[in-house]
Amino acid sequence: MPPYFLLAFLPIFAAMGVNAEQYKAIKKELGDKVTLVAVSKIKPVEDIYALYELGQRDFGENYVQELIEKQALLPNDIRWHFIGHLQSNKVKYIAPFVHLIHGVDSYKLLEEVNRQGGKHNRSISCLLQVHIAQEETKFGFNEEEVGQVMEMLANNKKMGLLQNVQVEGLMGMASFSDNEQQVEKELLFLKMLFDKYFTASPELSRPVLSMGMSGDYKLAIQCGSTMVRIGSLLFGARG
Ligand SMILES: *Cc1c(COP(=O)(O)O)cnc(C)c1O
Repeated sequence: MPPYFLLAFLPIFAAMGVNAEQYKAIKKELGDKVTLVAVSKIKPVEDIYALYELGQRDFGENYVQELIEKQALLPNDIRWHFIGHLQSNKVKYIAPFVHLIHGVDSYKLLEEVNRQGGKHNRSISCLLQVHIAQEETKFGFNEEEVGQVMEMLANNKKMGLLQNVQVEGLMGMASFSDNEQQVEKELLFLKMLFDKYFTASPELSRPVLSMGMSGDYKLAIQCGSTMVRIGSLLFGARG
């Protein structure tokens, strides 16, 4: 009988999937105009550390609990991006350290981020998530809502409110589709909104357009992305 008991000793948290060659190739491709966020959700801290040792500092996580556990174990100079759907009641857990919250999809959430930023005496950077895909399930504002939020933000800032939150740009996820024309149409739509509200903003030195994942990052860069979120190409497929 095979020694199955040995399986119990397998180092399941060993760094397994990090593709160093791929990482270097992507970094080169992006140059210094496009920021790479390495999406490490579900991947072990050993994998994150392996990429850290290659020089990567921006990492993206989707789940609050997982993010705070990893943050506690890894070096302090990592810039943690929260890219998942964030519930208002969980902002407090990531407020002390989070570098950029990508998926803000309600004004209420923005107010809570501001409140928690105030408690920690800092201004927390955020992106507004825009729904650009055909799939119904994805979160985000529509075009009209983006306009409304930008207006409310501007009014509040004029009154000296919302000083502890900084909206730096937009984030979106295109359809998971092989139809490149459809994906391109969605990415260009997001770029159009970004240009309308952020590109010429006098307050922002480097506005952020977060779009592009493993499957569509090349297209996203062509369409004007300034920040790509890449997971599986760097860490291997997730489960
Ligand atoms: C998981 C995830 C990614 C990375 O996806 P890959 O296809 O693995 O590159 C990017 N953005 C968001 C919002 C995600 O949830």
